[in-house]
Amino acid sequence: MPEPRPSLLEYSPAELTELLGSLGHKAFRAAQLAEWIWKHRVTDFEAMSNLPPALRAELAARYTLRPLEPVDLRQSQGGSTTRKFLSRLQDGEHVESVIIPAAVGQGGAHSSRLTLCVSSQVGCAFGCRFCASGLLGLTRNLSASEILAQILAAEEIAGERVDNLVFMGMGEPLANIDNLLRALTLIMEPKALGIGARHITISTSGNVPGLRRLAAFGKPLRLAVSLHGASDEVRSRVMPVNRKWPLGELLPALREWNRTGKHMITLEYILIEGVNAELSQARELARIARDLRAKVNLIPYNRVEGLPWVRPSEAACRAFCRALVAERIPVTLRYEKGHDIDAACGQLRLRKTREPQG
Ligand code: SF4
Repeated sequence: MPEPRPSLLEYSPAELTELLGSLGHKAFRAAQLAEWIWKHRVTDFEAMSNLPPALRAELAARYTLRPLEPVDLRQSQGGSTTRKFLSRLQDGEHVESVIIPAAVGQGGAHSSRLTLCVSSQVGCAFGCRFCASGLLGLTRNLSASEILAQILAAEEIAGERVDNLVFMGMGEPLANIDNLLRALTLIMEPKALGIGARHITISTSGNVPGLRRLAAFGKPLRLAVSLHGASDEVRSRVMPVNRKWPLGELLPALREWNRTGKHMITLEYILIEGVNAELSQARELARIARDLRAKVNLIPYNRVEGLPWVRPSEAACRAFCRALVAERIPVTLRYEKGHDIDAACGQLRLRKTREPQG
């Protein structure tokens, strides 16, 4: 396997000026380079036709433009154009990302054309009981450039720009907070990817220190919190993270987030038969949502191979939803698309047996 090379996607346009200056090149060359990387989004140094051949060769010897390579692509059946792709990283690890067309992304609630569900880690240490990604444990954090490269790869696959991001792929983004903030800075930078904070949703299992860092970052990002249990007893059964940061710590951190004037929080709640779908949990959930002025997203459990839990009946899901509506909580009951390719929330998992060689 070739030696991994640092990626130029780690550098903002201003930092490229410093980098090229340190290599003895003039500032206008950095501006040209930044245009090739961020405006034209080229994948090959040879395409940078206004850079001298010697500089192109020097950069190609030291750096890479794409620190990952898509190696498998699967499309959902049944009319949906949800697509999941598997990418190989330079060290041979793999991550998955999901391209979601506009009608599916965020319930069609805004005008985005193309949403990408982004991974932030290889595997995950948090071990939420419903989640395929947590089954293998954490291998490593993704770098900022590996996060960004998923977006560029998705655009190359889809043939159009991604304009909406959800950090709901593999990994707990707030457990990789340094690289996440770095990536977000470049994603939002108008001269880099230029995607506005309002079109970016960070999903967390309730990592309290990470939440406080993200709040201090001070951008109007959207926040989705995986609650999945409205009391410590129930939530700890579904999410081991609740033993480390129980509701008594999580809820004050979310109130703090609200005080900084961001968007309405979304509480994600996967309905699991015999675990958290009792109406008593709906009443507790309503109390929490009202306190946080949050909306609730109910997601009937998606089957995960190797896990024993099952989805409640449709009648039970609707009764849970009605209990929240009766308490005047904004709520959606979502049957996710992409289920057949394991691209729905909690189903991203590397399946090395399905990878093509190469
Ligand atoms: S739901 Fe998120 S935080 Fe929980 S195990 Fe899966 S990837 Fe990790």
